[in-house]
Amino acid sequence: MRCRRRSPASTSEGRHATLDEMAAAAQQRGYEYLGVSEHSPSLYVANGLDGERLRRHREEIDELNARLARDRHGLTVLLGTEADIMPDGSVDLAPGTWELLDYVIASVHQGFTGDADRMTQRIVTALESGQVDILGHPTGRILLEREAYGIHLEEVLAAAIRAGVAVEINAAPERLDLDDLHSRLVQEQGGLLCINTDAHYPAWLNHLRYGVLVARRGWVEAKTVINTWPLRDLREWLARRRN
Ligand SMILES: [Zn+2]
Repeated sequence: MRCRRRSPASTSEGRHATLDEMAAAAQQRGYEYLGVSEHSPSLYVANGLDGERLRRHREEIDELNARLARDRHGLTVLLGTEADIMPDGSVDLAPGTWELLDYVIASVHQGFTGDADRMTQRIVTALESGQVDILGHPTGRILLEREAYGIHLEEVLAAAIRAGVAVEINAAPERLDLDDLHSRLVQEQGGLLCINTDAHYPAWLNHLRYGVLVARRGWVEAKTVINTWPLRDLREWLARRRN
């Protein structure tokens, strides 16, 4: 199982995977839950969801879950979002939408300044907002394409651990972000991780194994990784964070 993301995403591949297709693929893999996390409004280029569309998405997922329960499929779909961390460190959530979401991933997608102090502060501010459950692709590196943004990564990780925010190991082969050594560090310091596939299409769920390999190289144990937990435990953790 996994925590995410973006089933009906917009990409240059043209056709979108539907929620049903993603759910069917998760079921085939025997997952107990699947997290779906579209982008937040500021990323309109990536088809980010505004408040109205997010509300419709919530309804769609509630209906799907009711159908899955009726047919005893044993899969639950969780609604998250991947919210942009804005230049001032605020979390890009449309008003009134935080309550609709089962979880929030926050990550940086734009406005890299090259100033490591400022980037670090920006991410730390978001982590301390109380609105974030998971920090997405923490260094922003894209292999063979883009170096990590200039940040003081260990400070960012310490802030995530203090705030109880899980840190993503993004399993997309071009990211593998967080890496093995820092994953190990998070575990040693009592933090949590989440292995996400960033899947836009069913086949991309297969990337999970790359994230698991990163975690294993870092000696990470299953109990450190929130999306290895049974759904009940994951929901309890999320509920505690929201109080
Ligand atoms: Zn992202």
